[in-house]
Amino acid sequence: MATNSRSEKYVYLFGNKKADGDGSMKPLLGGKGANLAEMTRIGLPVPPGFTITTEVCTYYYDNKRTYPRELDAQVKSGVAFLEKALDKKFGDMQKPLLVSVRSGARDSMPGMMDTILNLGLNDKTVNALAAYSNNERFAWDCYRRFVQMYGDVVMGVHKAAGEDDEPFEVVIHSIKHDRYRKEIEDTELTVNDLQELVLRFKALIMKRTGKEFPQDPWKQLWGAVGAVFGSWMNDRAMVYRRKYNIPSEWGTAVNVQAMVYGNTGDNSGSGVAFTRDPASGEKVFYGEFLINAQGEDVVAGIRTPEPVAQLVKHMPAAFHELERIRQVLERHFKDVQDFEFTIEEGKVFMLQTRNGKRTGLAAVRFAIEMEKEKLIDWKTAIRRVPADQLDQVLAPVFDRKAVKEAKCIAKGLPAGPGAASGKMYLNAERAVEAAAKGEKVLLVRNETSPEDLRGMIAAEGILTAKGGVSSHAALVARQMGKVCVCGASALQIDYSAKTMAVNGSTYQEGDSISIDGTVGEVYPGNLETAASEIVQVLVEKSLKPQQSAVYQNFAKLMDWCGKATRMQVRTNADTPEQTANAVAFGASGIGLCRTEHMFFEGQRIDAMREMILAEKIEDRKKALAKLLPYQRDDFAGIFKELKGLPATIRFLDPPLHEFLPHDHAAQAQLAEKLGVSVEKITKRVHELHEFNPMLGFRGCRLGLVHSEISEMQARAVFEAAADVQKQGIKVKPEIMIPLVGFKKELDLQVEVVHRVAKEVMAEKKVKLSYLVGTMIEVPRGALTADEIAQTAEFFSFGTNDLTQTALGMSRDDSGSFLPAYAEMEIIKKNPFASIDQTGVGQLMQIAVTKGQSIRPDIKLGICGEHGGDPESVKFCHRIGLSYVSCSPFRVPVARLAAAQAALEEEAGAVKRNGQVKKVGTARKLSKGKGRLVRA
Ligand code: ADP
Ligand code: MG
Ligand code: MG
Repeated sequence: MATNSRSEKYVYLFGNKKADGDGSMKPLLGGKGANLAEMTRIGLPVPPGFTITTEVCTYYYDNKRTYPRELDAQVKSGVAFLEKALDKKFGDMQKPLLVSVRSGARDSMPGMMDTILNLGLNDKTVNALAAYSNNERFAWDCYRRFVQMYGDVVMGVHKAAGEDDEPFEVVIHSIKHDRYRKEIEDTELTVNDLQELVLRFKALIMKRTGKEFPQDPWKQLWGAVGAVFGSWMNDRAMVYRRKYNIPSEWGTAVNVQAMVYGNTGDNSGSGVAFTRDPASGEKVFYGEFLINAQGEDVVAGIRTPEPVAQLVKHMPAAFHELERIRQVLERHFKDVQDFEFTIEEGKVFMLQTRNGKRTGLAAVRFAIEMEKEKLIDWKTAIRRVPADQLDQVLAPVFDRKAVKEAKCIAKGLPAGPGAASGKMYLNAERAVEAAAKGEKVLLVRNETSPEDLRGMIAAEGILTAKGGVSSHAALVARQMGKVCVCGASALQIDYSAKTMAVNGSTYQEGDSISIDGTVGEVYPGNLETAASEIVQVLVEKSLKPQQSAVYQNFAKLMDWCGKATRMQVRTNADTPEQTANAVAFGASGIGLCRTEHMFFEGQRIDAMREMILAEKIEDRKKALAKLLPYQRDDFAGIFKELKGLPATIRFLDPPLHEFLPHDHAAQAQLAEKLGVSVEKITKRVHELHEFNPMLGFRGCRLGLVHSEISEMQARAVFEAAADVQKQGIKVKPEIMIPLVGFKKELDLQVEVVHRVAKEVMAEKKVKLSYLVGTMIEVPRGALTADEIAQTAEFFSFGTNDLTQTALGMSRDDSGSFLPAYAEMEIIKKNPFASIDQTGVGQLMQIAVTKGQSIRPDIKLGICGEHGGDPESVKFCHRIGLSYVSCSPFRVPVARLAAAQAALEEEAGAVKRNGQVKKVGTARKLSKGKGRLVRA
């Protein structure tokens, strides 16, 4: 790549209350670098350093792993800046400057890329550090740490597949054994032990890599920088990015920062803290620290840290300084912060801050309480709760009675709220295998590390014996919304025997256990679960609203969503019960009532089969007449639950063979029941067989060829509507014709509907108001939406079938290649879970624009799985739909996403125009967007 004449800036300095960058520059400086700059600017005590930008990472991969020409000089002047600020020199024999080299992507990727501390030490500078600090033990402790980290991260000496322990830890263990014949704390190792350790570490590196540990500080520095950039494409990082949809183009930055030392003795230490509890959401100072330690020790789980509240006993001044910083951080960043600190000889230094990852439960509580404290307004509060995390608040908990009767076998830290039961596995690979077989598994380990990520994803919950609230297990659980109990120290895990022993009982791998991540308890067996408090209040009505703080926070959030939203959320429901649940969650009607589900219960299926087997139209009509009362009662029940809210009812959609038995025994049984020969049934099943049922005789094609079916369905709807309306309850049916690709298909079906409506109104002497519309679920329907809109009073996008037909992919068969597609990054997300916005979305936009050109007020909605996916919901808002529809328990998630979409649009409008009137403008704006697409 040719370099510009103007030299690019690749290195950004921070230190002494000034910084080249700031908190808004995360894309360029990464999250860590941007916030180190920001903290420096607001006067917090941050050791000076510099950030090498993410552009260098991009350059590195675009140019065969080389750096831009200017980088070398800019890094040199960065180091010179540190030397000047601290009056030390890199590689110096008197006052050696040591640095940390830290990765930092735009979004934090916990545990993905490793930090190297104490860089700049070698066989000579270690003596200089010892003399200068007058602390030989400290100097050698730094050196052995550096050799260990450098050997691991840069030179690649990790644990091999199948090994359960890190090779360097094995060496530490062996030295303790050789010299003391027992386990001692790392802090008890003497100077001589540490010197021996350095020798053994170097030997280990030589043995594993055939290379010398490098002595030249500059070589060390470039080695470390290269390792950070290199790690962006390692397997762990890629797995993580895929899970969280982080584009690989973003790249990572590298931070080089002057060291401060938490390992000089008992007046020093390191820790990690949250400004509030990220698991429960409670407003308490939360976190942990270790005396006489460098930062990595806290998260590595080698020593067990103390809760941060205990710090007041050891170092009261430092504790109060941290309390002050806690306030400053929240007031400045206006969000809960997760920060890392080191105390050197009583003085606090800040090494990192970021918005804290939180559980769904905590996210809701933070949002509600921070609004109350006036740190944020209600609109910000809505935007703070990740919509897909709201699920966690609705997830089941253990049944209170079951908990009372069960025996708690161990207690640990409540690191990820919720209830999980399953078979325990002590190793990630075996957990993944078991989960793939359909087992519910819990991953149980002493502590987890990034290698375990796949196992953690596969598990229902995670249980560890060691490690605190900032351990890897806790971190990942919080982020993924996994149930997690960590540091249950009573557990004795034996990896080779595959057992977990506790208080005299031994559990084998594969045994079932239960963990309660809300309180941190472990139980044997599968404990019974109960609905979440919110469901208990709203659906089961077994809990009063005022008894549940969780419910109250949820209700307030939903209230706010109601104020912010433009788009409505409806539900997919086929029964009165589902309807009632969805309405309790705030659904504003039914967006999809699948009538075929009504034909399976009890005797209905017999009548249905009779209808399908009938050869003459009279026989078919007779069978349909038997179905009519069932269907009518179903609709009446649903209309009553809706109390005037609209209901979109889809006419029969699936191919008829789905209703017939396919094995011989069942066919024989049916033959006897209906008094026909088995051969007749076998023959009919054969006739109905299709090579490609998804594209076969289904949807409106059924109602067109057998109009008596649509006729019966229309009659059931209108008779039910008339009956319910007579009881003084408003009814708003919206009849929906599926799989329409031609206007004429719809015209013919609409004719039937109108005729039957007229008949029923005359018979029952009532006036009914209703709509007739169509699903847009085949590309031809979308492309000719202007023609179709001449007849259709509404469109509902059937995005399941629209995705299948637009992509030419069968949802039920895509499992064999979609994972490979994700791996190859052909698709970023499963298109059946989240709308393919560029392809399928474009068809939707065309249909919206064409539909509105004929019928400006056409009602637009979406049914299909996508209606409950936050990203898809936001997309629907942006193209101007009036509602989305999803399953009853997804309604809160969709409501939150819909409100967020409206607020995002408003924020975008503020940015564009400098001001905004009110949320009500959303509609107009999104129409404007629709038009833009057309141009
Ligand atoms: P991660 O992204 O895994 O959290 P960090 O780059 O934040 O990695 O480094 C981990 C820990 O290393 C920090 O929390 C801190 O305790 C320690 N650390 C990093 N840089 C320094 C430094 N300049 N001085 C002292 N400790 C440091
Ligand atoms: Mg960190
Ligand atoms: Mg369909």
